[in-house]
Amino acid sequence: MLTIQRVVLSSRPGKNGHPSPDNFRVEETSLSTELKQGQVLIRTLYLSVDPYMRCRMNDDTGADYLQPWRLEECIDGGGVGVVEASKNAELTVGDIVTSFNWRWQTHDVVHSTCVQKIDPTMVDGHLSYVLGAVGMPGLTALLGVREKGHVTPGAGQTMVVSGACGACGSLAGQIGRLDGCERVVGICGSDKKCHTLVSQLGFTAAVNYKKGDISAALRDSCPNGVDIYFDNVGGPITDTVISQMNSGAHVILCGEISQYNKDLPYPTPLSKETQEALSCKNITRERFMVLNYMDKHKEGMELLSQWVKTGQIKVLETVTNGIENMGVAFCSMMTGGNIGKQVVKISA
Ligand code: NDP
Repeated sequence: MLTIQRVVLSSRPGKNGHPSPDNFRVEETSLSTELKQGQVLIRTLYLSVDPYMRCRMNDDTGADYLQPWRLEECIDGGGVGVVEASKNAELTVGDIVTSFNWRWQTHDVVHSTCVQKIDPTMVDGHLSYVLGAVGMPGLTALLGVREKGHVTPGAGQTMVVSGACGACGSLAGQIGRLDGCERVVGICGSDKKCHTLVSQLGFTAAVNYKKGDISAALRDSCPNGVDIYFDNVGGPITDTVISQMNSGAHVILCGEISQYNKDLPYPTPLSKETQEALSCKNITRERFMVLNYMDKHKEGMELLSQWVKTGQIKVLETVTNGIENMGVAFCSMMTGGNIGKQVVKISA
């Protein structure tokens, strides 16, 4: 028996409530390390906190592909860890593995089919990148831009990214630039984030939506209007960007984090003015879902890995330490405490 720590959902914030660290509780429990044939003992290295988890905190997620977390049960999400014991021919001690359904526990015993083996050289040894730039957020940025963005090299396009200093946004802007956009403008929630986007990630300009007149700042940053909008946030920021989009432009509807603490359908209905702007200017606004492109994930991961290794893409992360801080890290990410991908380091 091994004494382990795990995180359970102790209460729900309510569909119209803001999540708080008190919704999560850390407890100690015992784990039997006696393995059945096919099972592995895994030690957790990093866990991911992601915006989609907000809807798993509700008793009804509103999405058929996502199950709600159950009260008083261990939470799960993206994780990466190391095999410590194995009764499976495919996995040996020391192998690095990942899963989208990793329990928020310091150790676990799972069947080998529940995890995927990772080649650490894919992420240059930065194992947390499996949860970020060379994982689901990286694929979201890459496939979102490529499937819905219509970037045309040499066409002088301007791309705007909201949630620009987060996991997906920081990569989407860099990919837009690599793929041939002339200007890439980020919208985010602090001057420090704006500075990071321009000085470290090669964005042309950045706008702090918490300060001043966003509409005027965006107009200054996009003198030729907006051709592509990678939308992570929805709400009034999106209304402002769409009002400055050119005819025939494209919105990549990736997410609407500004609406996740409200009891509203996804995507949330647009205002009449914004709806009219879309139809008058023939602007496409297609919903993008990374899970709908499973056939492109392997190739996408290889490209992301190559970009990361060659430094063509710069990866930013905010790392919080300790399983006891999972709830704090999740709530911090939901309110903009992160620069780049928010992960939690569980063990070294
Ligand atoms: P981030 O790393 O971007 O973290 C969330 C960020 O959202 C915060 O840092 C904060 O930054 C910003 N934010 C929070 N509240 C608001 C608000 N009211 N208005 C504007 N910005 C806000 O998270 P991810 O990169 O993981 O996710 C970004 C988006 O992508 C989410 O909407 C998510 O649901 C979506 N997503 C969609 C996928 C798909 O397949 N469609 C897959 C993965 C993610 P700031 O300081 O700028 O406010």
